[in-house]
Amino acid sequence: MNLTAYTIERRYISKRSNTRPGLRLTTGVPAFFVAHDTGNPGAGVESHYRYFNTLQDRSASAHTFIDDKQILEIIPTGTSSDPAEKSWHVIYNVTTDNERFGYNANDAALGVELCYGGSIDFAEAYRRFVWYLAFCCHKWSREPRLFIPSHKQLDPARKIDCDHALKSGGRTLKDLIADVTAELGNSVSVSPTQAGASAQQASPPAASPSPTRPSAPPDAAATPTGSQPSSAAKPDFVPLPAELALALVEDYVRPAWAAARAANQEVEAEHFHRLAVNLRSAAGIDEARRSLPAAVQLHKSNAQELIFRWLSPAWYRAKAIGDIQGADLAHERANRLRLASGLLPSSTRMT
Ligand SMILES: [Zn+2]
Repeated sequence: MNLTAYTIERRYISKRSNTRPGLRLTTGVPAFFVAHDTGNPGAGVESHYRYFNTLQDRSASAHTFIDDKQILEIIPTGTSSDPAEKSWHVIYNVTTDNERFGYNANDAALGVELCYGGSIDFAEAYRRFVWYLAFCCHKWSREPRLFIPSHKQLDPARKIDCDHALKSGGRTLKDLIADVTAELGNSVSVSPTQAGASAQQASPPAASPSPTRPSAPPDAAATPTGSQPSSAAKPDFVPLPAELALALVEDYVRPAWAAARAANQEVEAEHFHRLAVNLRSAAGIDEARRSLPAAVQLHKSNAQELIFRWLSPAWYRAKAIGDIQGADLAHERANRLRLASGLLPSSTRMT
C-alpha cells in the first residue's frame, strides 16, 4: 500500500483521567482497531479535538478522528514513536471484545472515528478512514476481516456506529473491510465469496508480532490460489464430522443466536439459525441428528464467518495463555471448515 498517501497529524489532548488517562495499552501495541463514527453529523476533526480536550462531565474519548481534510491522532496510537495509550471508546461491561480478542477494547484497541454529515465530503473522509485503517493493519500485521470490528459489533444493544455513518455514504461495514483489504494490497480483487482468502493474501507478511508461534493462526492457514474449480467442476468438499458440527453450534452459533434474540435482532438471529442448519447439513445430519441423504457443501462465506468470528480469536486467546492444545484445536477446526466448504481441496491431508 502507499504509506504516504495521506499525512497523519498528531495533536494530543491534555492528560485527564476521563479522556486521556495516560496509561499504556495493556497489549503494548494495538491489538485491534474499532471502527467508530462520531454520531455527531456535521462536526469535523477540529470540533472533536476541542470537545475532548475540555470534556469534564463524562468519560469518553477515542484515538483518531478523520474527516474530509485531515487525520488527527488526539491520543497516542503507536503509529509514531509515541507509545500507544488507552482511551475510553467502548464501554467496559460488554463482552464481545473479550470473547473475540481476549481484552477489553479500551485496554487493547485503537478507537478510530469517522466524521460525517453536514458539509463533510463523505467520499474524501471515507478514503482517509480506509487508508488509516489499512495503515494500522499494515503496521501491526493485522488482517482487516479479523481485526476491525465496528463499535456496533462490540456493543450492539447500544451502538450503531460506524455502520450508521457508512450508510449515509452508501457503504456497509463489509464494504469498508473490503476497501481496507484492497488498500493494503492494490493488486488483490475482492469478491463476496473470496473476500477472506483475498484478505489473507493481502495481509503483509512482515513484522509478525509473534515470530515464534509454532502453528499458523487459522486465518493465515494455506489457502490455495489459482486453483478454484471452474463452475462446471463437481463439488470438491469433505463433509464435516458430525461431532464438530454439533460442537460449533453449541460453542458458538447457539449462544450468538440467543444473544441476537435477546437483543431483538431478528435478522441476525435468523442468520445464526441458518448458519446452524448449514453446519449440520455439511455433516449430513438434521436437527435431531438423523442422517440426511447426503452432506451438503458448506457455503464458503459460512466457513469464513465461523473462522473470522470465533476460531481465529480462539486461536489467539489460546496462544496468549500458552494453551498449545487449544490453539491446535482451533486451527484444526478451521481447516475442517475449509475442507467442508471447498476453500481447501479435498485432497488436503489433515494431520
Ligand atoms: Zn463508537
